[in-house]
Amino acid sequence: MTTSRETILSIRNLTVTYKTRMGNLNAVDNLSLDLYKGEVLGLVGESGCGKSTLGKAIMRMILPPGQITSGEIWMDGRDLMKLNKKEMRDVRGNRIGMIFQDPMTSLNPVQRIDKHIIEAIQAHEPHVSKEEANQRAIELVERLGIGRKRLLDYPHQLSGGMRQRVMIALALALKAQVIIADEATTALDAIVEAKFLDLLRELKEEFGLTILMITHNIGIVAELADRVAVMYAGRIAELADVDTLFHAPKHPYTQGLLASVPNINMDSELYCMDGTPPNLISPPSGCRFHPRCPHVMDICREQHPPFIPQALDNGEQEVACWLYESATEQT
Ligand code: SF4
Repeated sequence: MTTSRETILSIRNLTVTYKTRMGNLNAVDNLSLDLYKGEVLGLVGESGCGKSTLGKAIMRMILPPGQITSGEIWMDGRDLMKLNKKEMRDVRGNRIGMIFQDPMTSLNPVQRIDKHIIEAIQAHEPHVSKEEANQRAIELVERLGIGRKRLLDYPHQLSGGMRQRVMIALALALKAQVIIADEATTALDAIVEAKFLDLLRELKEEFGLTILMITHNIGIVAELADRVAVMYAGRIAELADVDTLFHAPKHPYTQGLLASVPNINMDSELYCMDGTPPNLISPPSGCRFHPRCPHVMDICREQHPPFIPQALDNGEQEVACWLYESATEQT
């Protein structure tokens, strides 16, 4: 469970729009979310629900034809949306690091690993000498379980798991406090993935890191996250602490998502959710999940449900679903 409720990053009414020939598409639509210091927040949902777009938007790395069209992202008392390019470059790295599914997209294939880390340190801290930066690089990679000799390797000479650890080393070298891990374990085999998750858990404690874990893998979230946000069609459908989400999911989409996960003890057929995610160029009216929802009501087709907090003895849970409106009114 999260021990601290200090907000480190606050997203308010964020919308990311892609302009296409078929029309405008809001991949993230008026989304608000807080990240608490020292927590792992799992962000889950089907492909195309907007979770990776949200991660890139926090880093202001949305490329045309995409664009952040509205909203605020607050960190350290500043709205990141208002920072100039240089200020934002300092935030990327010094405050927020990002790890992608394929680290090769972030590493220069013709540059040795030591150069990546030394250059990153010196770019953000020009007063640090090359020797000092090199020493920091050695200490970091060794802390992450990579022998110092591998600093002289090129990215392609390392395994996938090692490359992911190099990406973490880069973030830690710059003393980033928030790490956005976007499908960071997808390309790893099961054993390397388990070791990588152990490492993230250790680093979270040791460096007080806050991690936004973007994944379609519910198992990873169950293992690592303190809280979970479930995204559907560009919006948050449900947000809860990890125990509540897995033991008492409330949103019909969350329930379907969890029922679709294979279970070694299951004695019936795997559940398959009806329908497919909507086309966001012309999303369904009201609740975007209504064409697939087994509990759909008239109001669902007409009005988008608000985020409704649930009364719990322990933990927290908020659900964007009309089914829970009356329950809130009674509490
Ligand atoms: Fe289903 Fe209505 Fe809830 Fe949407 S608001 S998830 S359609 S019951």
